[in-house]
Amino acid sequence: MTTSWFLKIALPTPLRRTFDYLPPENGLIEQLQIGQRILVPFGRSRLTGILLEKTTHSDIAKEKLKQVICALDEQSIIPDTLLPWFKRIADYYHHSLGEVLFTALPPDAKRDKSLLSYEIQWQVCNTDFETSQSLQRSPKQAALFECIKNRKGPVGLAELDSFKDPLRLLNELENKGVIARSERLNTQIKNKLTHRIGTTPVLTSAQRAALHEIKAHLQHFQCFLLKGITGSGKTEVYLQLIEQVIEQGKQALLLAPEIGLTPQLFLRVQQRFENHLGVMHSNMSAGDRKRLWQRILEGDVNILVGTRSAVFAPLPKLGLIVIDEEHDLSYKQQDGFRYSARDIALMRAQGENIPVILGSATPSLESLKNAENKRYTLIELPDRAGVAKAPKTHLIDMRNQDRHFAVSASLIEKIKHALQREEQALLFLNRRGFSPVLICQDCGHVNRCRACDYPQTYHQAERLLRCHQCTRAEAVPTQCAACGNHQLQPLGFGTERVMEQLSEAFPGTEILRIDRDTTRKRGAFEEILQQIEKPGPKILLGTQMIAKGHDFPNLTLVGVIDADQGLFGADFRSTERLAQLLVQVAGRAGRADKAGHVYIQTHQPEHPFFKTLFENGYQGFSRQALAERQQADFPPYSYSALFRAESAQAADARNLLEAVSNSLGGMTQHITAYDPIPAPLEKRANHYRFQWFICSADRTELHRFLHLALRTMEKHPLSRKVRWHLDVDPMDMS
Ligand code: ADP
Ligand code: ZN
Repeated sequence: MTTSWFLKIALPTPLRRTFDYLPPENGLIEQLQIGQRILVPFGRSRLTGILLEKTTHSDIAKEKLKQVICALDEQSIIPDTLLPWFKRIADYYHHSLGEVLFTALPPDAKRDKSLLSYEIQWQVCNTDFETSQSLQRSPKQAALFECIKNRKGPVGLAELDSFKDPLRLLNELENKGVIARSERLNTQIKNKLTHRIGTTPVLTSAQRAALHEIKAHLQHFQCFLLKGITGSGKTEVYLQLIEQVIEQGKQALLLAPEIGLTPQLFLRVQQRFENHLGVMHSNMSAGDRKRLWQRILEGDVNILVGTRSAVFAPLPKLGLIVIDEEHDLSYKQQDGFRYSARDIALMRAQGENIPVILGSATPSLESLKNAENKRYTLIELPDRAGVAKAPKTHLIDMRNQDRHFAVSASLIEKIKHALQREEQALLFLNRRGFSPVLICQDCGHVNRCRACDYPQTYHQAERLLRCHQCTRAEAVPTQCAACGNHQLQPLGFGTERVMEQLSEAFPGTEILRIDRDTTRKRGAFEEILQQIEKPGPKILLGTQMIAKGHDFPNLTLVGVIDADQGLFGADFRSTERLAQLLVQVAGRAGRADKAGHVYIQTHQPEHPFFKTLFENGYQGFSRQALAERQQADFPPYSYSALFRAESAQAADARNLLEAVSNSLGGMTQHITAYDPIPAPLEKRANHYRFQWFICSADRTELHRFLHLALRTMEKHPLSRKVRWHLDVDPMDMS
């Protein structure tokens, strides 16, 4: 009797299970590889899945199973070492393994085109006397022909790089019918060397100690938290460690936050290393993404710099992961498959038994707690490398200031002095547009988005009211919708309005505004950055896009226009965010040999938050914040998850969450399951939003509970009518 084989396949559907199929009619089971893409019939259509297992057992009767259509690509496209990691991620986030796997692949992977790259090769097909004659008048063609002839086998483009413009010559030879092209699968992992170029600075003693300690642990899993203020030389430590890893024949992955940081970091890498580098970010076209993914899979990339999704890169010989600015929110994917790149990078490193470095001036409270528990090794870089000094911080009391202006008279004065010294000033305001509210002067009516019930932001130059929740826009009304009065007034300040004040106060001075509105066009952000690099006094005004990472040597003044935004946020993480932001923007000032000053405008100068942060630094703040979190049993002292549900009828979403919460009421030992409540932003794009927060000090118990809750949820009839999802370790509670 012949053995019956079954194939277990992961499909890109939200269903959290694998699917059983029968092998193809004539295909040999041995030829199918785990991790290979397989085309299968699914309902009335076809889907591309990933082969997970070949087994002789299925819980479903053989007659009921369908046959797969065919395997795609010639080989597995997921390195063996990564499959267990993907399974672990899918379990941890309670997410469909198929969707997790396809998140990690280029966008083309769901279609049935080949994903692997082919190398075009040429070989001689005609060597008779006439051939040599026909080439006589073109010595370049003749030389190339001779070269290919002498190689005796097919020759790829890479081997012809001694010729100028070889593609044109090859085409001409092909047209004459003397050579022919063939395609070969580009699979062999070549010996690809990356070299250090240029010189390395002499390390400070703190850098040397950090390097020494991490170097001793390059052969196994260990997590290091490298804490050092901006400019303390963390990047230099990463670069020297990467050099070590490269010398051992391994590869390095360097992750950076989403906004603007990747190009700068990549530049640093390019200045230090040559050959086989790669950069991956969210602005890439699908084609570029696929080609880069192919290069990575083939072993052509030894150092990869990238944002969040680069954590999935199939680097075959990974030896080190660095996560710069590890506290940054952009490491968390906020829709679809809601993973934290930092957290899954740690799981990956554990699986591959390699070290991870988390770098930050302002580590997340999660990481600080792990360092305290000795799960991470804390290494500090206390001083600035080179000659730069730490900036001085000053509070500006806004209570007695003229309310018509966002920037106080005293800050204007300080900026004036900086400009006179030919220096640059940076003003930070995390709000774009002209004003966050347009209000009727007569009756107080506020223009709100009809779909979100949220005040619309006034964009003066565009003459639009834009909703920053749902992106809906409409023309600015000429009169109040409630009372008909024509006096509509902007209330509050966005970057566009502050620009107006600055232009008036500093006529003739170059002022650059950096926010989503001024950087929408591709390449616009890079253009502004180049403009900033140019010498001469100027003022930069920006949102969080400008808060981190960028190194502006001539910047000596930083002003935070409104620090109160974060002081009273609804989220339990808002003060952590504010502290990180203030330290980060402060880090922009005084990077070279000039001392920096930071001015923070607030209506709450006596707030204990400022006292703690300025007197005891981020460390003092974090110590106190951790104590408060512990008191409240909040993360990182508990593990948390959030069910979100939204529906056009408010009752549906609320009823679904309440039904599940009530039916699991008796199973909440070791679990704190709060009552479902409306989300802080209750209505968005015509949907009413509710959330259900759950936490537990015991991670296993939490996941057991989530598993049950998901089962109950999926069985509830409303679950098909309501849009809902589970967010494990949620970071954004709005
Ligand atoms: P971080 O990553 O902590 O912000 P960097 O590594 O970017 O710090 O260092 C800040 C600046 O100091 C950079 O311009 C870098 O070239 C320089 N630098 C770093 N280490 C040294 C050193 N040991 N000696 C001199 N300059 C250094
Ligand atoms: Zn809206």
